[in-house]
This record gives sequence, C-alpha cells and structure tokens, in this order.
Amino acid sequence: ELSTKRVILDLNVRLDQRIKDYLEIISNVSDKLSLKSFLVGGCVRDLLLNIQSNDMDIVVEGDAIKLAQEVNKYINGEFFSYEKFRTATIKNEEIKFDFASARTEFYSCPAAKPLIEYSDLHNDMYRRDFSINTLAISLNKDSYGKMIDFFGGYEDIKIKRIRVLHPLSYVEDPTRIIRAIRFEFQLGFKIDKADEELIKNAMELKLFNVISFDVLKEELKLMFSHGSCPALIIMRMKELNVFKLIHPKISFNFSLDKLKGYFSCLKSEGFGNNLKEWWFLCILPIIYNILKSEDRFFKRKWKFTKKEILYVEKLKKFLFKFSRKRSQNIFKDFDLFETLEGIPSEIICFLKILEEKPLNDYVLWFEKNKNVFKPLTTGEELSNRSDVKPVFIGEILKNLKKEKFFGNISTYEDELKFINKFISEKS
Ligand code: ATP
Repeated sequence: ELSTKRVILDLNVRLDQRIKDYLEIISNVSDKLSLKSFLVGGCVRDLLLNIQSNDMDIVVEGDAIKLAQEVNKYINGEFFSYEKFRTATIKNEEIKFDFASARTEFYSCPAAKPLIEYSDLHNDMYRRDFSINTLAISLNKDSYGKMIDFFGGYEDIKIKRIRVLHPLSYVEDPTRIIRAIRFEFQLGFKIDKADEELIKNAMELKLFNVISFDVLKEELKLMFSHGSCPALIIMRMKELNVFKLIHPKISFNFSLDKLKGYFSCLKSEGFGNNLKEWWFLCILPIIYNILKSEDRFFKRKWKFTKKEILYVEKLKKFLFKFSRKRSQNIFKDFDLFETLEGIPSEIICFLKILEEKPLNDYVLWFEKNKNVFKPLTTGEELSNRSDVKPVFIGEILKNLKKEKFFGNISTYEDELKFINKFISEKS
C-alpha cells in the first residue's frame, strides 16, 4: 500500500529548497487555472532512489502550454513551446521543466473515461516504457505529494525490477530493449525474467526493418554514456541476443576479457565517454565483422560522422594492405608500418584485441617498436638550422625514420651525418 503521507515527507526531505520553491509555483498556478498537474517519469523514479534530478517532467490534464506560460511569469526562465505536441519547456541555470499535456490518443473507449480517476494521466502513463517510469506525484494543493501508481512501479523500484507494461511493448518499440539494458546499468536494476523472454521473443521477429535508426543511435549513445563498464554492457547485449537490432548479419566473438582489454587500453590512452565518437568505439567490436561488407549501410543508415567514417576508412585500408602483404616479410615493410602509424591510437587499441594471426603479432610488434624508429632529431631542431630549407623538413624526418626502420642508422650522430649528406645532395 502506498502511503501518501510518506511520499509527502519524501518530497520535503529529498528535494532542495530551490526545487521545492519551483514546485510550489507550479502547484499554485495549477490550482489557479483549475488544471491537474503531476510530476512524472524519470524524475519521480530518481527522487525515490535519492538521485538528485534537475530535469523534471510535468504532465498536465489540460493545456500544458498555458500552464507553463503562466508559471514562467514567476520563474522568468527561457521558454520554448511546441504547439504541435502541446508541450513547453522552461529552463534556467538551476532547472529544466518539461510540460506536456496528458496524451489520450490510445484511449480506445471514451465512454469508459469517467471510471478511472486521473484517466488522462493513466493513458499517458500507459504509453510509457517501464513501470518504474510510470509514477506520478500530484502537485495540486489538495493532494500535493500524493503518489499515483497505476502499474506497480513503486514496488518495482523497491525491488529494482525493470518490467514493461504489456507483452507487445518491446515489439511495438524495440528501442525499449536498449533502454532496458541502460537502466540495468545506470540504476543497478535487473530486467525481469519474464521481460527477458519477451525481449528474446521480440528478437526472433524481423524488427530490424521497422526500427528507427536515429532513435536507436541516440539510445545506444545514452547507454554507453554514463560510465558503466562498456564490456559488461556488450556482453549483456549478447546474452539477450540484441545485436540484431544493429544489423541482422552481425557475428560477434569477443570474450569479456578481450573487451575489457580494449576498453582499458582506450582509458589509458585518455579516451572516455566524453568523446563524441565514444558510442562508435563501443559498438566497433560488435560491427567489426561486417564493416567491410556493410560499409555503405552504416554510413547511410547510421549516419556516421566524418570522424567515424575516417576511423572505418583507415581501419579498412590497413586491413586490406595487411591481407595483401601477409605472405611477405611484414616486419620489413615500411609502407605497412606507416599505414598503421597513420591510424588513430583508439583504433589501434581495437586492433590489439583481434586474435587473427599474424595480424595480432604484427600489431603487438608495432606497439613495442614504434618509438624505436622515431628520429632523435626534432622538426624544431631542423627548422632552427639555417642550412635546412623548410620544404625539406618533412622529407628529412621521414627518411630518418625509414633509415632507422631498416637499421641503417641508429644514433644521433648517424642522424646528423645523414642530414648533412641529404643537404649537400640537394644543394
Ligand atoms: P534519464 O533521466 O535517466 O535519461 P528518463 O526516464 O528521464 O531517464 P528519457 O529518455 O528522458 O529518460 O525519457 C523520459 C520519459 O519518457 C521516460 O521516463 C519514459 O517514461 C518515456 N519514454 C522515453 N522513451 C520511451 C520509449 N521508447 N517508449 C516509451 N516511453 C518512453
């Protein structure tokens, strides 16, 4: 049984005074306009979990834009409204409020409407993904702080269970599968056993053809953005058989250890979830096997950015060269060495976990030796020399590296001799 009193206490204890002040404004204005308004969704869930949120969703039984306009007279924040969706946003440096009119489009039988108290709210909550996101807290004075729980969300939050509201939910919107996995990691919850079955069954259908890649991409970005171990997230995706959402032909065979190796390499190189392409680096082990054959698909459907396309191109170019040269002495091939040198270090982290031989030996050898071939002479040193024309600096450095690569020179003195010879030949 939900205790209204307890939730009122929660509201007062858990919210910052500033946020309470804002909610009081919304409460007063709702009463003045005779509109029912509720705090809903993720922020109520977070409130109950003691996670501070300053991104709050308000559902209004009535005109949300009108309520928001009136509320903003007291807040004076930035104001945006979207007539088409009957929503409005108020934002300032402390808080963001999204106001939405309760949607009733799934209301199949209007005659039944008076039977449920808060029927508009009920319908709005029924459209949502998981029970844990369907809690509402009334903001009107006479019921301020009263929690409304149509689908057992309070209990699910208590036992940390992720559960959809009806069996076809995942089929209706497969991006919810990714959201479910995100909430497992973000909140430390667990997808209900029955839902795991629903997900697996949904994955048997050809959802791939109905999915919106734009939304899916945003959900993948969110899932990998909040700092949980991506290797564990990927293994969970594998367990639930959801790679098919990304592409039906994916074949994945990395172990958890390999993935962990990849992500700890990225971390040690300074790459993390603040990187714009982080989501790409996270799905790279998943899509690697079909990158070559489905290249155009990813560019078009997944709208890879310029940098993501560059990652793919460089990786493909190197793998292509490698496959052509593998029968020769790869450790003596300067062109191959330079191609790998031109690959961003984040992609090299990935190459390191590939188990294909002799590629794996080659990448490890490269990692060990790449600095050995670096000239001791710097570009700055060369540009300070009056006898070196600036146009030759790049060429000299490259040649020095090449000579070192082949073992023709090794010490700083060798380098000086080489440079002097180079200059005298050019002049
Ligand atoms: P967080 O703040 O951690 O991102 P959130 O629950 O606020 O969590 P949003 O993605 O901002 O997540 O979504 C806001 C609300 O919209 C959710 O609480 C959820 O009820 C609803 N929602 C979002 N995506 C879907 C979806 N695909 N299907 C149904 N409801 C959804």
